[in-house]
Amino acid sequence: MASLTEDAVRELLDARLVRRDQGGRTTVMGIGNEDLEEGRAYLAALADVGLAVPSWPAEHGGRGADDDEVATVARVMREYAVPDLYAYAIGLRMAGPTLLVHGRPDQQERWLRPIATGIEIWCQMFSEPDAGSDLANVATLARLDGEEWVLDGQKVWTSRGAYSQWGLCLARSDVDAPKHRGLTMIVLRMDTRGVEVRPLRQMNGDRHFSEVFLTSARVPDANRIGGVGEGWRVAMTVLAHERAGADRTTEQQAGFGRNPSWLAGLAARGGLATPVRRDRAMALYAYERAVRFTRDRVAAAEQAGATPGPEGSGQKLHGSALFKRRAGLVADSEGAAAMLTDSEGHLELLTAPSMSIRGGTDEIQHNIVGERVLGLPAEPRVDRDIPWAQSRRGRTGDARPG
Ligand SMILES: Cc1cc2nc3c(=O)[nH]c(=O)nc-3n(C[C@H](O)[C@H](O)[C@H](O)COP(=O)(O)OP(=O)(O)OC[C@H]3O[C@@H](n4cnc5c(N)ncnc54)[C@H](O)[C@@H]3O)c2cc1C
Repeated sequence: MASLTEDAVRELLDARLVRRDQGGRTTVMGIGNEDLEEGRAYLAALADVGLAVPSWPAEHGGRGADDDEVATVARVMREYAVPDLYAYAIGLRMAGPTLLVHGRPDQQERWLRPIATGIEIWCQMFSEPDAGSDLANVATLARLDGEEWVLDGQKVWTSRGAYSQWGLCLARSDVDAPKHRGLTMIVLRMDTRGVEVRPLRQMNGDRHFSEVFLTSARVPDANRIGGVGEGWRVAMTVLAHERAGADRTTEQQAGFGRNPSWLAGLAARGGLATPVRRDRAMALYAYERAVRFTRDRVAAAEQAGATPGPEGSGQKLHGSALFKRRAGLVADSEGAAAMLTDSEGHLELLTAPSMSIRGGTDEIQHNIVGERVLGLPAEPRVDRDIPWAQSRRGRTGDARPG
């Protein structure tokens, strides 16, 4: 494909997208929004020029853009209206990049283009009732029967589970191996017999995530990503992309830029009337800029080929803190009215606590930064090297093969 200058990208986008309305209200992806069609239309509009995922190979829906071109596309893209891509985010930002690293050519061929063009939606089936922070403790069992895996267990907090076509499922294939080494990553169709999805309601009113029950659900071995017992390695790739992307997602949708819409909105509603509020708002604005510079530095390193690492944890921590401080400031300026469901910022206020939980809690990110960035002593991990079947969870009857 032709090389991408700013003008070339603008010409391609002008023919396909509408320009961003600078005054438009923006918020975080997914909240208060169940619309799948806007995002699908946007991705479809970009499909023939591969600009939704420019770095992906052209044969998989991208255009094989180099680092400079990817940066150019990202820069010019900010001039255009981007709909809420929440429904498509697992596929575009986590499953797709993971398939590019760990997927076989036939898997890339089958799954990447429908992700890039918005035809198929993916969800991430990692967390379980007793395996969230301690993800390597998953107890969903995967038993190989001929050419098929038979899955039994329960997942929870599966965002997008109710409308996804595909689930990226971390399951235990060997109960006698230590917990990190007995896991396998399997992709399953969500309409497979034996897969039951039960949506849950969050305190902000959203019904994005679900419990998923797996009862003798059969999945072809061809859907395994990576080797048998290598699921943890694949999961780490997924999570590194999730953490690195979490802050970016919030930033993009919250309109944090040179003239952030939240700040203009606050001023327009009289929220900067007192010196104390102005002081808080300016401190938040400065913090936001610092977070943004750090994020851009990490993004530049990634674009230059670096794999996302523990710096994603630092980014996630700052992204969550920023979101919560902003929601708090807006709510304070609204006063008692902030409690009303239709008040400015109410949805963000009720969503803010989840920022410190989703994609790994703040405490877990602190542990990662402490151990892997600062070199502090690791916290005790008593069950790391014993067979999982002998661990507390492995010994409970319901997690053992029937
Ligand atoms: C909005 C939202 C969307 C989500 N979407 C998905 C999804 O799509 N797919 C998916 O698989 N999961 C999803 N999750 C689940 C999320 O990844 C988990 O909630 C998270 O990892 C925490 O796990 P847990 O809820 O089991 O809490 P627990 O792990 O039980 O933690 C409870 C508390 O103990 C603390 N804690 C635990 N271990 C330690 C430790 N070693 N050191 C210090 N403190 C510790 C935690 O920080 C937390 O405060 C979502 C969660 C939310 C809120």
